[in-house]
Amino acid sequence: MTRPHSEPVPDDGPIEAAQPAPRRSRQARVVWGDRVVTIGGDAPVRVQSMTNTDTVDVIETAIQVKELALAGSELVRITVNTPEAAAAVPHIRDQLDRMGIDVPLVGDFHYNGHRLLTDFPAMAQALSKYRINPGNVGKGDKRDRQFAMMVEAAMKYDKVVRIGVNWGSLDQELLAQLMDDNAKRPEPWEAQQVMYQALVQSALSSAAYARELGLNPDHIVISCKVSGVQDLISVYRALARRCDYALHLGLTEAGMGTKGTVASASALAVLLQEGIGDTIRVSLTPQPGEARTQEVVVALEILQALGLRTFNPSVTACPGCGRTTSTTFQELAKQIDDYLRAQMPVWKSKYPGVETMKVAVMGCIVNGPGESKHADIGISLPGTGEAPAAPVFIDGHKAMTLRGEGIATEFQKIVEDYIERRFGAPHSSAA
Ligand code: SF4
Repeated sequence: MTRPHSEPVPDDGPIEAAQPAPRRSRQARVVWGDRVVTIGGDAPVRVQSMTNTDTVDVIETAIQVKELALAGSELVRITVNTPEAAAAVPHIRDQLDRMGIDVPLVGDFHYNGHRLLTDFPAMAQALSKYRINPGNVGKGDKRDRQFAMMVEAAMKYDKVVRIGVNWGSLDQELLAQLMDDNAKRPEPWEAQQVMYQALVQSALSSAAYARELGLNPDHIVISCKVSGVQDLISVYRALARRCDYALHLGLTEAGMGTKGTVASASALAVLLQEGIGDTIRVSLTPQPGEARTQEVVVALEILQALGLRTFNPSVTACPGCGRTTSTTFQELAKQIDDYLRAQMPVWKSKYPGVETMKVAVMGCIVNGPGESKHADIGISLPGTGEAPAAPVFIDGHKAMTLRGEGIATEFQKIVEDYIERRFGAPHSSAA
């Protein structure tokens, strides 16, 4: 509507819908048995996680891998730090196969990976991907030799390697050399810029050496993890410019709870929107009593919020305000959200497409009907002083009005019926 006497509103044409930029990386194929997970190229951005059990404990580790996989993790990394842990790995793989858990295992190696991969061939075979930290493979003349032993194991067993640099264990010899070189520059860089360069150079020079040794570039994934949001963005932008390897993305030591979640989401959202990142991990420190699977839940939510992937039906709920003095709508929103998530493991196969469904639970008439109409199915609860009635909208149209104490149960039943009708198998009629 144009208002008379008002300033014209600037108009430079249709407003483009924001969407993640493309970045076409090489595609790595992570294989176990006859199964495969692709990373990079045209594959969706993958979700990874890591166990925090003692790898020696086969059952406890297999159970946690199962939980992470069922939560949505598409690759699970386990620590392989001792001969006992290395010996346990094939048994963990067997246990997962017996439980029907279709997820590849990634081995995390530091300091002694070259020996373990040589001494435990069954472990080297049972893993689907090796993580090598170039800062922790040895010092001096041992460094290249021990790195080469790990790469040769990857070639022998046809495994993908992640060259995973971390600023907490950055190659100190390389950093010292770059600092010396920098001091000789007519205009030295900031120390922070030298550190960025060391991270990127450690990863890319290690990748180049792995290729010299004969590793197929499609078997290389790169990561350079740091714990600061702006640092991570700076380093990954440089990596994305300088190579076409698949990139594993994550803020290291993100922290606990809200801080870790927000920091990870902030960093990953910026990079993923720029098309940078082929696989992600959210490195949350579990709070006491919190499930390890929380890191997977957050990773899925980040990808779904950006519209990169769809995992679960979404529940839109208003924050509530002074117009709603009861907690009914908060409880209903939580009840519906919990219910939808709990059903998803079964619904995924029973109701194909159900993960795209949008449900709205709103607190009053101000935005309730509008938001509910935008959802597939929505309810607008009565705010303070409104008539005690809750209109339900289905596919944009008002379908019914609920009243009384049983609104929550009735609405859940309406959602179930909608899912069955829209996503259930078509009923076959008798001939
Ligand atoms: S929909 Fe109503 S209750 Fe919810 S935030 Fe908006 S005005 Fe407040």
